Amino acid sequence: MAMADTCKYFVPGPTWVRPEILQQMARPVIGHRSSEFRELFHGISADLKTLFATTQSTFVFTASGTGVMQAALENCVARRVLVTTCGAFSERWYAIAESLGYEVDRLDAGWGKAVDPDMLAEHLARHHRAHYDAVTITHNETSTGVTNDVAALAEVARQEAGDALILVDAVSSLGGIPVEVDRWGVDVCLASVQKAIGLPPGISVASVSDAALTRAAKHPYRGTYFDFLAYKKQADDDSVPSTPSIPHFYALAAQLEYMLRGEGLETRFERHRRMREVTHARTSRFARLASDPAHASATVTALAPVMPVETIRSEMKKRGFTLGGGYGQWKDSTFRIGHMGDMPLADLESMLAALAEVTR
Ligand code: PLP
Repeated sequence: MAMADTCKYFVPGPTWVRPEILQQMARPVIGHRSSEFRELFHGISADLKTLFATTQSTFVFTASGTGVMQAALENCVARRVLVTTCGAFSERWYAIAESLGYEVDRLDAGWGKAVDPDMLAEHLARHHRAHYDAVTITHNETSTGVTNDVAALAEVARQEAGDALILVDAVSSLGGIPVEVDRWGVDVCLASVQKAIGLPPGISVASVSDAALTRAAKHPYRGTYFDFLAYKKQADDDSVPSTPSIPHFYALAAQLEYMLRGEGLETRFERHRRMREVTHARTSRFARLASDPAHASATVTALAPVMPVETIRSEMKKRGFTLGGGYGQWKDSTFRIGHMGDMPLADLESMLAALAEVTR
């Protein structure tokens, strides 16, 4: 089968992967204790620190993002956590925390809205005796296309919740929307690679602060596979605790090189902002934005069209374009356009021209 060199795939992850990257995945396998792997790992670590804008630790996990959400909770929470929610993926933090037996409080902004920093401040002031071990924030809520203001929320959490660690899901933002871990004071920031980073699914990346590592050291039962301290020990030696998906490491190294020194991060973020604008402009005739426009995501747009969602998606499919469906409680009323990763603007515009025909 030929490799697709134009993007016809507009779901909010997994996203289209450039043929050059797919070729990296086909390189001969090397051992993860070899000097070649260490060299590869060393370069990846340095570039991940730039991508996360952090001087603290960065790790690569052979697991999808959900695994690292669980890892963040297992390493950082002993008893109680506050989960901020505004859609299906922020609610996933809640489900995982409950499944681990923690006491979980929830601050819900409602689907389609962003979490309001004042609401968070008020909640934390009201629950000042709750002693949260951590507060979770979802940077970009993929089910609704809403980007939360992590800087403002983290600031409130630091001021009002003392030593609560700040755990951030940047699964559908990292690589498409600026993420500034150190400046925002985030303790764990995690992302799958199959979204705005533009790699095939299978690994995840994370930044972990010294405070999070110190907290993990106080928890004797952190499990084995996702033990942050084991990751830290091995990362200091340019390696990982267990056998990783080595093809992904080649692909990640090549993609970081491209993102940081090929396209460049600022240009990449600007392309994503432009994709959001073009998507809004070319769909406003037949659909309304399903979420708060003031917090509209640069990587995914959820639209409530006047025509039935399924008609639009199936007509587009006939023309070779795959669009994302609505998610969870919005399944029947919305569809989603993923505009993230390495997608060229021209490919998005071709798809939007076909969408204009279908909705005429
Ligand atoms: N968080 C967000 C915001 C997501 O969009 C997703 C997946 O779409 C996840 C978490 C789960 O990631 P994964 O499917 O890599 O486990």
